Amino acid sequence: MHRRDCVKVAVRVRPFNKRERDAGSRCIVSLAASAITIQDPRDSQCRRSFCFDYAYWSHSGYVIQDRTGLYLPEEVGGRYADQECVFQDLGQGILENALQGYNATLLAYGQTGSGKSYSMVGYKHNKGLVPKLCERLFKAIKEIKEARQCQVFFSMLEIYNEQVVDLLSRGSRPPGGLRVREEQHRGFYVEGLRTVPCDSAAQVEQLMEQGTRTRTTAATHMNANSSRSHMLLVLQLKQIFSKESVTKQSNINLVDLAGSERQRSASSEADRLKEGTAINLSLTTLGNVISTLADMAVGRKTVHVPYRDSVLTKLLQSALGGNSRTVMIATVSPADICYEESLSTLRYSERAKHIQNRPVVNESPTERLVKELKAENARLMQRLSRLGQDGRSANDETKEIRQLLTHNELQIRTINTLWEKHLQEALRDWEQQYANITQERRLMQMHPYILNINEDAQLSGVVKLFIPAGEWDIGLSEGTPRSISIKGLGIQQRHAVLKNEQRRVTLTPLKGSKVTVNGRAVSQTSELQHLDRLILGSNCTYLYIGFPSERGANDWSRYDYDYFLSELAAAEGIHLGESSTESCQTDPSLLAVFYDYVKLMPLVAEANQMSQELKKGVEFKLEIKNLVLSDSKGNDLEKEIICKVTSKHSKQVWMWSKAKFVNRKFLMEEIYLRHLDEMNGEHTGEGLSSSALPRDKDPFWDPVEPLLLGTAHLWLQSLAFRIPVDEQLEVLGSEGSEEAILQAKLIPCTSDGLPLGEDDILIDPSELLGRRLDIQLVVEQCFGLRWIREARNRGIQIGFSLLDSGGRVYTPAVWHHVNPALRHKVHFASLHVSQHLLDYLQSSAVLLELWGLQDGCTSLVSPLEGARVSTEGIFIIDESGMTNTIESCDLLGLRLYVDEHSGLLKDFSEQLEQSVSALKHDVATIVRRKRERSGT
Ligand code: ADP
Ligand code: MG
Repeated sequence: MHRRDCVKVAVRVRPFNKRERDAGSRCIVSLAASAITIQDPRDSQCRRSFCFDYAYWSHSGYVIQDRTGLYLPEEVGGRYADQECVFQDLGQGILENALQGYNATLLAYGQTGSGKSYSMVGYKHNKGLVPKLCERLFKAIKEIKEARQCQVFFSMLEIYNEQVVDLLSRGSRPPGGLRVREEQHRGFYVEGLRTVPCDSAAQVEQLMEQGTRTRTTAATHMNANSSRSHMLLVLQLKQIFSKESVTKQSNINLVDLAGSERQRSASSEADRLKEGTAINLSLTTLGNVISTLADMAVGRKTVHVPYRDSVLTKLLQSALGGNSRTVMIATVSPADICYEESLSTLRYSERAKHIQNRPVVNESPTERLVKELKAENARLMQRLSRLGQDGRSANDETKEIRQLLTHNELQIRTINTLWEKHLQEALRDWEQQYANITQERRLMQMHPYILNINEDAQLSGVVKLFIPAGEWDIGLSEGTPRSISIKGLGIQQRHAVLKNEQRRVTLTPLKGSKVTVNGRAVSQTSELQHLDRLILGSNCTYLYIGFPSERGANDWSRYDYDYFLSELAAAEGIHLGESSTESCQTDPSLLAVFYDYVKLMPLVAEANQMSQELKKGVEFKLEIKNLVLSDSKGNDLEKEIICKVTSKHSKQVWMWSKAKFVNRKFLMEEIYLRHLDEMNGEHTGEGLSSSALPRDKDPFWDPVEPLLLGTAHLWLQSLAFRIPVDEQLEVLGSEGSEEAILQAKLIPCTSDGLPLGEDDILIDPSELLGRRLDIQLVVEQCFGLRWIREARNRGIQIGFSLLDSGGRVYTPAVWHHVNPALRHKVHFASLHVSQHLLDYLQSSAVLLELWGLQDGCTSLVSPLEGARVSTEGIFIIDESGMTNTIESCDLLGLRLYVDEHSGLLKDFSEQLEQSVSALKHDVATIVRRKRERSGT
């Protein structure tokens, strides 16, 4: 009866999104039957194939129905897998299982934006697995002929940062979230979670809408990112077969997991300590549980499955390696730029398919209780009748037993009528909600309003704030009759005034508040037009919907979150989107960087806001690393987004990678929330614990390090002619700013370091081939150092290497000077100029790097290992990598040897010369003597 049952895994490939289309992405996945193949975009030979239970192609071959927006296959039997097709394979099975009394679990796993919510919940008419499952479930219940009573309960919760939030709760949110408890026969459960009895799919859908609304407002209030949270929908189906007196209960867990993308941080030891697994403990633990179970399935011995390590895995214990039938849908983007993430999703899913469960039909605990009560009553009745037979007068005991009997019967009756009672209650609730929805629809037809737009498309358009005639304060304050209450980072008590007068709506920002309309910051009253984009505070994004008469047939869906961001970016001079796609088409990697920039902008705004409110005194700013910089050949360097962090007080500066910033931002949120709790809670006043964090735990702080401020190119070409160079070079920062002027010289010289004269100038560089070439590089002086001008407590060093010879050189540190004299001289030599070196001289530059030193950091030292330095301190730049044959390597070795022993050789040649002259002398004497003897 304990059948083993493997976790079923499906994979689904979604269409390109606008971003990917704009970037000219290539599709790197292909499907054949249930196998999926993914190709490394940088290496077409590198392919990996995975086999799953199901594979869905939802990438191409579809048409969008005009009226409904429904995605359908182009032709009947086409390869496009629509929502119905996915339901038939995955949902139908779960439904049948549930009706048989098995627990079932459906997990959606994948990178943010890969289509998890689309598959689970769906968008508008493209209903996903959950609404379809509900429809079919209630339909099945109605059609069931046998006598059984079916009860369905629905609950909806979210796990964010290990806290459980009840999305259907009517009360206020308990701080710290709901508790997860464990009971022997029940396993782990969420204490106090609201479960709502339902008797129609419409009711469930309405509850989901309500839950989504709670999620949306919670997300903006708490400044939380929905992609980091897990959403759990639980359907409990209870079937009471009165004739057979059997009750079957099955729990259906529907889980829309947090985005699987991993932020690979710079991960120094300190970072790892700070970021740890806190970023998403539940998702990490889920991975560990899956790995352990997969190991067990292939017979590897494991001692311990770490279910208890996170909230999510506690709640999913029965779904993974337990008594549940489990299906996982892995969603992937088909685009080349998502290769790494898609591959990691496929690998993860590959492991999951090995997990084995042992599904069993469940008996409900409630039913067991009724049984137990009935049994106890039977026992009591027996005792009662025995008491009667004994004929003894045992009045007290009889009375007591009768009391117990009535109590038990009452309890049985309550249990049985509970469902009815609850259902009635839920229906009343539903009617109320329904009335609210109708009311909202009516208001939409009467007044202009603003509509929330969220980064997560699933949460967009959920909140509508109406602007009836008159003047309204919009801001944090609530409860006053003429206020529209919103919450979010950087929103003031009274943030702005919305005025609806004579069929015009105007917006007036109040003092000190941030308001952006269509990407531009506004400080004056401005009239709003239908479909204007508003950003209030750091990141509360709304779309303005004008008066009904102003609204056309056009749908607002094109004004998604990306649209807001591109508009903001455009205001900063970065152009994306339709008009500029042509120019960007040439460089998709640049476009990808810009998109990154744009996506991070609101996060940076939030980080700044949090820093301000927490009085951290640091400022965040995005920069594009290498935007204008090039390598020693003048080729563009790979660009990436970095975040510059500046301490306003000490002027210390840190450069964070994108991943590091994203991880840190999450930790900042955590501290920020704690701070808010402290503020709202005990009002402890001064000494906020969040500001007293030890530095190794403080996400706003890092040890200081030298920073690369910019580079200058010193071109080598004239060295090929042995012509000296003396130049004033512009040191350019990452984004093109002038960081300093650097005076540097290249002087062709003798092996003793004496400058060559004009006579040594070559007409034909090839004359250098095979000969020795000595060069001195002199870093003379820096002028106008911006880094020092900004803060005098800083220093600089210049770093460079010639010919990538392995010898990196840093000039000694100089502090506090805006125009420091450096006068640092380095002697380089090639003992035997090769063609390669000659080409190099003619086409390359020395990259002179300007390094910024700051208070508390140690200066850079020239790492001499790996460099070839002669006894005279000359850097030898002939490199084995340049002359590839083993022979020439040996020659080079020999030459080095010869060079180092040149002193000895010199002595030897002197001796030789002496001997030769002595010999000459001797020969001459002999010749003379001979002549004398012969008498001539
Ligand atoms: P996730 O929940 O994984 O972050 P979503 O499900 O919200 O991602 O999908 C992101 C976007 O991609 C949405 O706008 C959604 O409409 C679209 N999308 C996802 N999957 C599909 C699909 N199979 N067909 C059409 N559009 C899809
Ligand atoms: Mg989602």
